[in-house]
Amino acid sequence: MNCSNRLARVSACPLCSCVPRNERVTRQALLPPRAGHRATSYLCFTMQEILNYIGGTLAPARSGAWLDGFAPAEGRVFARIADSGPEDVELAVAAAEKAGPAWVALGRQGRHDALMRVAALVERDLDGFARAESRDNGKPVHLAMEVDIPRAIANLRFFATAILHQESAAHITDDQAVNYTDRQPVGVAGCISPWNLPLYLFTWKIAPALAAGCTVVAKPSEITPLTSMMLAERCMEAGLPPGVLNIVQGTGPKVGAAITAHPSIPAISFTGGTATGARIAAVAAPMFKKLSLELGGKNPVLVFADCDFEEMLKETVRSSFSNQGQICLCGSRILVERSLYPRFKEAFVQRVKALRVGDPAVASTDIGAVVSEAHLHKVLNHVALAKEEGGAVLCGGHRVELDGPLAGGWFIAPTVIEGLGPGCRTNQEEIFGPVVTIQPFDTEEEAVQAANGTRYGLASVLWTSNGSRMHRLARLMKSGIVWVNCWMLRDLRTPFGGMKHSGVGREGGMEALNFFTEARNVCIKL
Ligand code: NDP
Repeated sequence: MNCSNRLARVSACPLCSCVPRNERVTRQALLPPRAGHRATSYLCFTMQEILNYIGGTLAPARSGAWLDGFAPAEGRVFARIADSGPEDVELAVAAAEKAGPAWVALGRQGRHDALMRVAALVERDLDGFARAESRDNGKPVHLAMEVDIPRAIANLRFFATAILHQESAAHITDDQAVNYTDRQPVGVAGCISPWNLPLYLFTWKIAPALAAGCTVVAKPSEITPLTSMMLAERCMEAGLPPGVLNIVQGTGPKVGAAITAHPSIPAISFTGGTATGARIAAVAAPMFKKLSLELGGKNPVLVFADCDFEEMLKETVRSSFSNQGQICLCGSRILVERSLYPRFKEAFVQRVKALRVGDPAVASTDIGAVVSEAHLHKVLNHVALAKEEGGAVLCGGHRVELDGPLAGGWFIAPTVIEGLGPGCRTNQEEIFGPVVTIQPFDTEEEAVQAANGTRYGLASVLWTSNGSRMHRLARLMKSGIVWVNCWMLRDLRTPFGGMKHSGVGREGGMEALNFFTEARNVCIKL
């Protein structure tokens, strides 16, 4: 198994599954070949440059500074990322302001057509996008192929189409007046997204903003910027007018903070941690900016004895460990009716032990690498804390070390912990990794109290066959999303967001389009 130029037609490197160099990804500079590789035809030998996309062109940061980009499954640097600062944000805002009037004048149909062209190009290159997302984030390639990239394409298409169907309200004031609601784009929108679902969440923000007629200054997470740059290249190929979408690479404290504080950006759409959300709100609120904050979670899963056991078991394994547990919607506290608890515990732990941790490129891998070395230690520290608090680790709880090219990768065995009450730190703090707790409960009231007993309120999952309990409990859950007998079943028209410290505002459907517009009431006297 050697990489050679003659093998460049193969769709992925046979050793580490990176995309061939002839993939249209980015500018590259050669690195020395890694052990076991002979030539330089794959990205595994190359240092990718992840550039800013400002005013329709790709360029390094003005300062010329770079950040390291890591491949989590390999635990090594594979890219350098433009380390931008406020001066790059300034350029991006100027480009966005300049592009604004023509983008609005293009009209809904014109914006629809442009976004659909971009979506078609991402779909054309789905395989390359999925492999790149996996390399940058550590997630299994098949997950990126089945979930992340298709959903990014769907986001673009959904909002491109939704804008054609947006209605405005009219109110007749008896026989005195007609009022109608006129919605205009807010102007330049700031969009800041996290690393866990990189292109999926990046497009979830920029698509409604662009469809609504805003121009955008966006910042992906510095930890996973690769597919945002690939998207920029597809925007150029699709003929998206320069300056309509601007992507500034770099860190939160420099780029994210500059976007948040910029006086010409009147709306900030942010997804990320609760502490970061609070920092953004502290800056943006006194400037009276529109704010959409999608923040952390500590989601409960309530399992009643009358549920469909096999279906619940399958989906609860998925809701616990999908994407290494790094989805804000993952269930992390599993509450099980006591009569079912022994059966659940035995079957669940058995299933979790059978999950395969390994090479993200291999189709049979269930659990890839966590996103960074720092995150690996954060998750393992949480496991140590759980033990200090008296928790028993039923499986996992340790780093997994692989052989060969992935020997330095950041892998964690999926972990199940029991013996902790609802109030302890393990059951209160977001871990955001492949770690769940299981707890028995005796009554519905006790389960609801435990479920709602954190500062978060993003999603809840209920497993029961009792129809009246489904509705009763759904209304009692203090969370923005309640899944009953399912998980991650999404309809992009529905409101999406959290209560309490999980966020402010709702994304999805018309809520997102409305966020990026200002409503003006026009009252005409009859
Ligand atoms: P962070 O809050 O660390 O970062 C999110 C984004 O904000 C990144 O692009 C980050 O940049 C940027 N950022 C960091 N500091 C600032 C700042 N001071 N001003 C402006 N921007 C800043 O979150 P993570 O990336 O670690 O993502 C994980 C978190 O996201 C979890 O808490 C998870 O629950 C939450 N999340 C919520 C979702 C929801 O819909 N509610 C969905 C997905 C995740 P950089 O990374 O470059 O530092």
